[in-house]
Amino acid sequence: MPRRSLGKTRRIVVKVGTGTLTDGAGRFDRKNCERLSAELAGLAATHGLVLVSSGAIALGADRLGLVRSPRKSWDMATKQAAAAVGQPDLMAEWGRALGAHGRIVAQVLLTADDLASRKRFLNARHTFESLLEHGVVPVVNENDTVAVDEIKVGDNDSLAALVATCVGADLVALLTDVEGLYDRDPCHPAARLVADVHKVTSEVERMAGGAGSASSVGGMVTKVAAAKRLAAQGVGTALLSGRRAGALGALLAGDPVGTFFRPGAERRAGRREWLSLAARGKGTILVDAGARKALADQGKSLLPSGVKGVEGSFGVGDPVDIAVAGEPPFARGLAGYGADEVRRIAGLKSSEIERALGYKYLDEVVHRNDMVLTDPGSEATR
Ligand code: GLU
Repeated sequence: MPRRSLGKTRRIVVKVGTGTLTDGAGRFDRKNCERLSAELAGLAATHGLVLVSSGAIALGADRLGLVRSPRKSWDMATKQAAAAVGQPDLMAEWGRALGAHGRIVAQVLLTADDLASRKRFLNARHTFESLLEHGVVPVVNENDTVAVDEIKVGDNDSLAALVATCVGADLVALLTDVEGLYDRDPCHPAARLVADVHKVTSEVERMAGGAGSASSVGGMVTKVAAAKRLAAQGVGTALLSGRRAGALGALLAGDPVGTFFRPGAERRAGRREWLSLAARGKGTILVDAGARKALADQGKSLLPSGVKGVEGSFGVGDPVDIAVAGEPPFARGLAGYGADEVRRIAGLKSSEIERALGYKYLDEVVHRNDMVLTDPGSEATR
């Protein structure tokens, strides 16, 4: 996908770094937040927009008077405490700034652990879908209170990449305090901005200060790593200055701004690939011929009304096969309900789920977006 195709972007994750939201003295830069919010609100009107915002630690540190001591000297618990203080301030600022343009914001706090579990991944995905349907701008940050060691994403560039996978975004824009990726240390007088990266090679990684370089250039390493991972999933990544007015609009218009990392694959592989190739169904949901037709030929979701029976045991988010009794499975998907729940709602209308279970997660037993057709004979295999 070249830059000129960016106008076709439907869903975008914008990551805003601490440098974009704070001034040189480490104080919140309300002016820049407000300027950016006007652009983001415009984007939210035409695209599915998810924000990943850093800044909680910086805002909390400011409130706690920590800014006078160097950040490097703070231990983990101090940073977590600062994040806990700063996170509500950060949300209040986004709420105010985007609210001025009629946008409601929602706070979403995640850890790597949350997105590694299929069940929680799916729950997060459904929440994001519902927020976007309501025109809300989700504002994501790492749940710093609990995120230490092995469950930590660690940096919001990687978090933005995970969120993009979760929401099925086709573009990620990382806003930072430089104009993009430079071919050498940006302070060097001969440094030149790299406009387009076709593939993240070791040469590109070296420019970012990765392998082979003694000094890492301003957090570029994590950005290039995120872009590389996203490219492999068919998602483009742009690196832009968080202070350049109109940068996001220019990017979507295909204009030369920042650095654009082209997606490597023609289509999004990621989860669908995972479903069709790697995952083994933990059980089978048996459906009637009508449901088979709706799923295989009409691209519909599986509703409880089409379910005839359940084999095996699986939990919410587990991969399940979908079959007509006595035939091989024709589809595989992530279960929206556990096996016992599906048994109890089999044959019911979606409007009856709540009465049968006492609660309802979703109308669908398996949502279309979480499903692949596995029968090669089917027209609609995709
Ligand atoms: N979660 C951190 C914060 O909000 C930021 C992590 C990052 O910027 O990569 O302050």
